[in-house]
Amino acid sequence: MTSAVASTQLNHSEQKSPSEALRPARAVFSEGTLVAAPIHPLLTEKQPPLDEYYNALFTHFGPQRWWPGKTSFEVIVGAILTQNTSWANVEKAMGNLRAASLLSPSGIEKVPRRTLQRLVRPSGYFRQKAGKLKAFCEFLRVEYRGSLKRMFGTPTILLRPKLLGVFGIGPETADSILLYAGGHAVFVVDAYTRRILERHGWAKENPAYEDVRWLFERQFPGDARRFNEFHALIVQTGKHFCRTRHPLCDACPLGRYREEGR
Ligand code: SF4
Repeated sequence: MTSAVASTQLNHSEQKSPSEALRPARAVFSEGTLVAAPIHPLLTEKQPPLDEYYNALFTHFGPQRWWPGKTSFEVIVGAILTQNTSWANVEKAMGNLRAASLLSPSGIEKVPRRTLQRLVRPSGYFRQKAGKLKAFCEFLRVEYRGSLKRMFGTPTILLRPKLLGVFGIGPETADSILLYAGGHAVFVVDAYTRRILERHGWAKENPAYEDVRWLFERQFPGDARRFNEFHALIVQTGKHFCRTRHPLCDACPLGRYREEGR
């Protein structure tokens, strides 16, 4: 089964805090007159036709339905373990945790750190990842008495910054957890999303995470279902067409849009 965060976390670093504030314009004074000026190409009036992108990708790839049947906690563990590795490696680590009956918050908290490191070793960076899993489970116990239901019942605007304060959880991991484990309406930005926007002329090189997220969320406010599918479709586009080298634009479902942002 394809995973929602598998392959989405390529080689860009997780940011602990937004690098740019979400302001529509920066105040600029000219000869005493206040002028509102765009502060970022993604915040200009002209916007990429994301609804058309979505329709083209959905028509080509069909529904993705990521992570059916998984528990929320497994989705969270997967979101943490998939940082900087392939989903195949995550599945091996998850298999180890499952075989040891440790796929629960209390199990992860109680197991000795060394044992946990050994079990998650196939996912790489195993010392860090064991620490991140333990940090999340401690956070869940302290803040929400160990209840994912209570945690995900918290409004997104309050929960997201709390997740970002947990060791090892950056914006992409936090948003994967919120969207795929909790059903919160946030868009998960990954390296493929940035690459497509850059190649189509809608973004400068390496645009800020929060700017890209806002671009999608402002066009489809509150639409968790669409965010779920859209992110999955973008991952498919990146894997099959929008490769690092030699993108297959002529065959790509987004080929007709590639010059529109210029
Ligand atoms: S492969 Fe080409 S057309 Fe497709 S998303 Fe990438 S840049 Fe755009």
